[in-house]
Amino acid sequence: MTHPEFGPKAKDACGVFGLWGDPAAALKTYFGLFALQHRGQESAGIAAGDGRSIRLHRGMGTLTSAFGPRDVKRLEGNRAVGHVRYSTMGASLIQNAQPLVANTGHGPFVVCHNGNLTNGPQLRERFEAEGSIFHTTSDSEVILHLLARPGPESVVERVAEACRQLEGAYSLLILTHECLIAARDPQGFHPLWLGKTEEGVYVFSSETPAFDLIHAEALREVEPGALVVLNDLGIMDARFAEAAPAHCVFEHVYFSRPDGVLFGDPVQRVRKNLGRALAREHPVEADVVVAIPDSGNAAAMGYSEESGIRFEQGFIRNHYVGRTFIEPDSSQRSLHADLKLNVVKWAVEGKRVVVLDDSVVRGTTARRRCAYLREAGATEVHLRISCPPIRNPCFYGLDFQSKGELIAAEHSLEEIRLLLGVDSVGFLSTEGMLGELCQPKENYCTACWTGEYPVPVPKNLRKKSCGETLPVVEIT
Ligand code: 5GP
Ligand code: MG
Repeated sequence: MTHPEFGPKAKDACGVFGLWGDPAAALKTYFGLFALQHRGQESAGIAAGDGRSIRLHRGMGTLTSAFGPRDVKRLEGNRAVGHVRYSTMGASLIQNAQPLVANTGHGPFVVCHNGNLTNGPQLRERFEAEGSIFHTTSDSEVILHLLARPGPESVVERVAEACRQLEGAYSLLILTHECLIAARDPQGFHPLWLGKTEEGVYVFSSETPAFDLIHAEALREVEPGALVVLNDLGIMDARFAEAAPAHCVFEHVYFSRPDGVLFGDPVQRVRKNLGRALAREHPVEADVVVAIPDSGNAAAMGYSEESGIRFEQGFIRNHYVGRTFIEPDSSQRSLHADLKLNVVKWAVEGKRVVVLDDSVVRGTTARRRCAYLREAGATEVHLRISCPPIRNPCFYGLDFQSKGELIAAEHSLEEIRLLLGVDSVGFLSTEGMLGELCQPKENYCTACWTGEYPVPVPKNLRKKSCGETLPVVEIT
């Protein structure tokens, strides 16, 4: 089942955070995860250690529902890792919540994973054929199995060896009694940062705004194909593979926080510039530019600046609407969607309106919001989207599912215009989009737009989690 308003959505584009050598490790991780909450609301968890034992707390939903104040207090120790997992409707299982932990012959391993392994199902099948037991339906669990298998004695070597077996997207934090290791796939699909607090404590985070919150400075990204190791002696860098960068541009377009820096570019500047480029590629005579909040805000500002057409807040967001806790029946669902945004009639009535959003997936959001603009009296509605049409599934961590659900996969631009009920529609071109980023264009993944997959995708890879269903389910 897909979200009534948003359609097929990114999942497994989770957030990870961790640090070593701070007496308030779990508390800081808790705050760090707060800054990453947009990356996942299905479940949240923190594991903390003191070198003798590791304590774990996980729960369903956002941080505030997954953790009470006592839960954080009980996570003693000066090192911790945490994870927020993306929300999709349907099977949300506590078993799949991260961190994942295992006691192995080499001591305990705690794993936090952001991304999607293209060879996850393959590895799992192999291990199951050998008699291995799996507790989750998550592809991330194969990482624990790789770490537990016979191999090098050194933890760092063991992690490097495991990473060499993995294909696809992984920004990883791995905690043991000895050290905290951050690892990033050779493509560097999703972000992973190293920072340092005012007290000199090293910190890892998916995104830089988490550093701001705990007064840490963003030092650098963990390089694609590299490991960064923290222990009581300090910090060490290692490499397990050549870097072959293919950064996910959708992180810039939609996923990451605008107040952060990503793959070398400030996210907000990129988003504004995408709006500017869009104004150059798809100009239109209009009276006012509005955004579909919040995802279209920056692009709308850029479009307005470049075109000289005035920006107005055309929609107001209600900040008190929860996500998917209530499973409304179909009649309540549209009400729920409408609770979130309301049109500012005054701003659009009798006007030719350009409306900006970051992306069209199924088209539900755009169709609905544009209809409201008309109802409120807009004389013309021109939709502008700050990325190209999404035509292909993602196998690296965004849950753009089957082609059938992507409106642009099956329809021409004119058909899309008619389906969305707008006077004109304009998508930013791939070239135009990549032109606003600082790295050479070969360094980015554009698979969902172009169908060019930087890491081969096995033919039989379904967009489903490994192992589909769990016959034994823990009720929470
Ligand atoms: P659609 O309604 O076309 O299926 O989805 C497009 C809308 O969903 C846009 O407003 C875009 O900002 C938003 N969107 C795109 N990707 C994601 C995602 O991964 N998660 C969520 N919650 N929204 C998304
Ligand atoms: Mg949106």
